[in-house]
Amino acid sequence: MYKWPFVQYIGVTSTSKSFCIAHTVLLRERQTDFTWALEHLKGMLEDSIEPRVVVTDRDSALMNACKQVFSNATRNLSRWHIRENIKKKWKGIYDSEAREDFALLWTVLCESPTFDDYEYNCVKLQEMLCNIGKEKVWDYIHHSWLDRDKEKIVSCWMADRLNFGETTTNRVENQHANLKRHLNGANNALHALAAYALEVIEAQKVSIGATFEQSRIKLKKDHNIQVFYMLHYKVLIKVLMLLEKEYGKLEKMTESGHTCRHQLRTSMGLPCACEPEQHLNKGVPIPLKSIDPFWRKLDFDPVVA
Ligand SMILES: [Zn+2]
Repeated sequence: MYKWPFVQYIGVTSTSKSFCIAHTVLLRERQTDFTWALEHLKGMLEDSIEPRVVVTDRDSALMNACKQVFSNATRNLSRWHIRENIKKKWKGIYDSEAREDFALLWTVLCESPTFDDYEYNCVKLQEMLCNIGKEKVWDYIHHSWLDRDKEKIVSCWMADRLNFGETTTNRVENQHANLKRHLNGANNALHALAAYALEVIEAQKVSIGATFEQSRIKLKKDHNIQVFYMLHYKVLIKVLMLLEKEYGKLEKMTESGHTCRHQLRTSMGLPCACEPEQHLNKGVPIPLKSIDPFWRKLDFDPVVA
């Protein structure tokens, strides 16, 4: 059986190291159908690794199936899908400027780093929509999404649980579109469909392999510092970029007396801004084991449990 030893989250979404595997072709989309597909998917993953983050749209059959099959995973909602749903409520004259304003404020709201920011950003979005007579759109956003599911959508809540920075299913949508480009209309023989799907998967494998390779051999000048010494060539390049950005916050934190709420640790499995004091001050390298295994897997080999 084809094994994917490095997939740790699915759906629906991915970082550079997971395949598009959740767009299962199903004739019906009942919970039992989704469960069937996800159980098979689970069987294709290494025993020692299960997806830890799942992002979906708000299809309750799919969400329930994910909960049943991957009960330990963090389950979030795709912001892209939500925005598409909101757009459908946007009736009347098409005003591109207003839509752009909305898109920006919606993004800022979703990315609110603190609860205070969230409250402030809600007011800004509400004001913007009310000013152009779209109160009903705000009511819809507020009651249908934020009231019900803000913990699965907005950064300040999501940061308390692992999410690996994934907030949409766009990557999977892209791969789905890729597959569709191969297809010749709706009627394809099963063996042809399987061959196309394999082709798309292999292309992803090549691209993922390239990110592994780059991380194993490349080092940015800015990352060639003592504190990162034990991480060089052993973690995805993205990790060093995230840590560099995070540690840029240290000075501000010290000035303001605030903490980072350990969000990088809880949401990404990486040392947060307040962890490295000893590393930065004393020049002690960050140990590899403080990096979540997700970021350390730079090959396609089976995981040793
Ligand atoms: Zn912290």
